[in-house]
Amino acid sequence: MKILVINAGSSSLKYQIIDTDNEAVLAKGLCERIGIDGSKLTHKVPGREDFEKVSPMPTHKEAVALVMEAILDADHGVIASLDELSAIGHRVLHGGIEYTESCVVTEKVKAVIRENFDLGPLHNPANLMGIEACEANMPGKPNVAVFDTAFGMGMEPEAYMYALPSEYYDKYKLRRYGFHGTSHMYVSGETIKFGQLPEGRRRVIVCHLGNGASISASIDGKCVDTSMGLTPLEGLIMGTRSGDVDPAVVQYICSHENKTVDEVLNILNKKSGVMGMSGVSSDFRDLSKAESEGNEKAALALKAYRHRLVKYIGGYVALMNGVDAITFTAGLGENDGEMRQLVCESLGYLGISIDKEKNAARGKRMEISTPDSKVRVFVIPTNEELMIARDTLRLVKAAGLA
Ligand code: AMP
Repeated sequence: MKILVINAGSSSLKYQIIDTDNEAVLAKGLCERIGIDGSKLTHKVPGREDFEKVSPMPTHKEAVALVMEAILDADHGVIASLDELSAIGHRVLHGGIEYTESCVVTEKVKAVIRENFDLGPLHNPANLMGIEACEANMPGKPNVAVFDTAFGMGMEPEAYMYALPSEYYDKYKLRRYGFHGTSHMYVSGETIKFGQLPEGRRRVIVCHLGNGASISASIDGKCVDTSMGLTPLEGLIMGTRSGDVDPAVVQYICSHENKTVDEVLNILNKKSGVMGMSGVSSDFRDLSKAESEGNEKAALALKAYRHRLVKYIGGYVALMNGVDAITFTAGLGENDGEMRQLVCESLGYLGISIDKEKNAARGKRMEISTPDSKVRVFVIPTNEELMIARDTLRLVKAAGLA
């Protein structure tokens, strides 16, 4: 069966067509500059030349129409008719407290996505536009919403509640939600499968280390804790996000720099993290280069990044009373062997030992711990689109829609 996966942003729309029989990506592409002059679609099919089309896309509706044109085209298309498409899976940021897992889109689901605009102000409106554009262009085709917050909804109240007056939860559902949930779900599930972790030995820590970074602890695929909170700002140090800070920092900067709360939050989201600390870059390749050239701030940013990560791993090991596997994923987690090695060296107390030769490989699925390591350590490239396609297929089949 073929599933169209859509990830709609405010001015962009990424897509993939996945054949769920063999989980191959048949085509993928990107619509850029939606609602802006110079809109462009780039469409890629493995083994063929990329196809580009510059065409006005005033809204997501025109973008989806162009995607349909591209996938159906006689030369660069991958399906002969829309009948071949079983369903459409959408990445949706925030499902609020209502959705603890993916679901087939109904009017109620759309209303909940809308109700959560204030919790996902950049993403939820765009995600909804993507869904409505597909409904308009492909009437009758089932749409499935896969929520980035669903995995974190597995947390128990002691993990998700902030220690604030309870009225804020009662009134606003102010709590920790966690993000990167689709990635954590995919990678923790693949760790269990790939590592053939037996029942009772499925305590998994996933370190999703990309430009945004988060970590999760799960047992048997159920989230015990995850580092992002009400928004993706909480937790690990990231490329440009501060992660955890004392909230009083906000008030201090506001009063000393004459800034508003919004301005300071913008600094914490976009100008902090390793970029803010180093003044060099949010890209770890640039930081490593700067460190090797003697840049002390870059060296400190990298040290602080690992310090926070090791602290979280230790906390999660304690919460689960042990750990069976630790898995690295996303841009940095998949590619930076040195960082993985340094982090694992700090975890010697867990009896972890890394095979340096295996760890030198990049970007592929592998076990990097030695056979005698007390905890198994893996690298598993994340694949949110595949997770979305799998969930979409499962749900439309269960609903008798495919
Ligand atoms: P992502 O958000 O998952 O696409 O990850 C992007 C980040 O991964 C970049 O900002 C880089 O910092 C990091 N990254 C990607 N490739 C490498 C690499 N070879 N070595 C170190 N960091 C990398």
